[in-house]
Amino acid sequence: MIVLGIEGTAWNLSASLVNEDTVLCEASAPYIPIAGGIHPREAAQHFAGSVASVIRQVLRSIDPDLIDGVAFSQGPGLGPCLRIVGTAARVLSLRLNVPLVGVNHCIAHIEVERWNTDLKDPVTLYVSGANSQVLSYRHKRYRILGETLDIGIGNCIDKFARSAGLSHPGGPKVEHLAGTSQNYVPMPYVVKGMDFSFSGLATAAQQTLSSAPVEDVCFSLQETAFSMLVEVTERALSQTKKTDLLLAGGVGANKRLQEMLAIMCEERGAEFFRPKSEYLQDNGAMIAYTGLLMLSHGVKTTIESSAANPNFRPDEVEVQWISG
Ligand code: AMP
Ligand code: MG
Repeated sequence: MIVLGIEGTAWNLSASLVNEDTVLCEASAPYIPIAGGIHPREAAQHFAGSVASVIRQVLRSIDPDLIDGVAFSQGPGLGPCLRIVGTAARVLSLRLNVPLVGVNHCIAHIEVERWNTDLKDPVTLYVSGANSQVLSYRHKRYRILGETLDIGIGNCIDKFARSAGLSHPGGPKVEHLAGTSQNYVPMPYVVKGMDFSFSGLATAAQQTLSSAPVEDVCFSLQETAFSMLVEVTERALSQTKKTDLLLAGGVGANKRLQEMLAIMCEERGAEFFRPKSEYLQDNGAMIAYTGLLMLSHGVKTTIESSAANPNFRPDEVEVQWISG
């Protein structure tokens, strides 16, 4: 089976062709804001201007008659961006006369890694700009064991970075500055049961800039936020009795977060998987591959039910492609 997938939830517009075994082709047109953070309307305008050429690039690599289905990121994400991608996917599915399938972006991050690594049943820490969730499969669903009560960890770091005069995306710049300090300034540590909150931490870090050097604030922000994530992730491993941890999402590129998770896993005898950076960030292959899994198990999306779903939660999806 060959599936064409289109990702476009926030910043990376990306189309890909995959079969069961490999990525056949991928083309991307990332949106990079000139100033400030991601502006949903500007991102969508960029997507609208680039979607035809990105799709044309992957179509050029294959006889279109060989394509068995079209997958697209249905959510969660920015509504204006999701609508562009959804429209393109509907047109392609009608034009090629093949089924359409709407994919949950969070699940796609997990499935592409299960494909890459042969991981069977991990606990996943998914940390991106807008999302922060701890997920684990049970009885046909990816269950959300813990999640942010307000903003995602990436947004927290990016917001703080903007007020420190650092350009978007702030994550790598904050990581670099944090690496030059060892001075911890107290920050609000907010874990409530299995959930965490980053909004107050972003505000506190912004305010601390007036009384402490920027590198000390970067260091303290990272140590606090990542400790919160590690605490909840460890509890999820303990509760589920699972022994594999998968890291996903753009913030997963952070070396300090990786180090803290690796120490936690080593201490409890768990195995830690950190994906290659091209799969940590959003990509078309993850949507195409998850679409392939869904289509090969009879899951399709009708045109009527293919509307963008900006708050699409992974536990809404019945996971037909895993038995048990
Ligand atoms: P995503 O939403 O999964 O595409 O990830 C984008 C987010 O990852 C943005 O908020 C970035 O600031 C963040 N990010 C990228 N690299 C790093 C890094 N090295 N450390 C922390 N955050 C990062
Ligand atoms: Mg993502």
